[in-house]
Amino acid sequence: MALLNILHHPDPRLRTKAKPVVEFSAPLAKLADDMLETMYAAPGIGLAATQVNVHRRLIVVDVSENNDNPYVLVNPKLELFGNKVAADEGCLSVPGVYERVERAESINVTAQDVNGEPLAFSADGLLAICIQHECDHLEGKLFVDYLSSLKRNRINKKLRQLAVSDNS
Ligand code: ZN
Repeated sequence: MALLNILHHPDPRLRTKAKPVVEFSAPLAKLADDMLETMYAAPGIGLAATQVNVHRRLIVVDVSENNDNPYVLVNPKLELFGNKVAADEGCLSVPGVYERVERAESINVTAQDVNGEPLAFSADGLLAICIQHECDHLEGKLFVDYLSSLKRNRINKKLRQLAVSDNS
């Protein structure tokens, strides 16, 4: 396994819309393993392939306390239902920023596993929020897009300053 490089906002590659996964073979399983390792090391609770510059529809999520309940979702599709709930979100591609975002309380998920086998389940709470956040990445969307432009501009400015100090 290997740690992957995570793209940081405002990198334009984060705005790429991911294509469906059509080939279920060893490289896909390796990518999923590497994404899980990268997510756990960060540490984070979710990672989309988009964030590691692979523009295919694959996300990994683990909201468990002990990092022992990973979800690997290929070509995920979501059906949203229930009330809107607001929770603080962060993102490995937007380091140091935590802001309140509204999402659907509950979701039905259909997807495939790394072998192409279909899977379906329902989720609510943090798992539902995290999966919605990761699926947004596959559309080239970031959680900061839900914020007011004032807040977003402040965040962009802060991240640009961080990027400048990284390079110096
Ligand atoms: Zn994210």
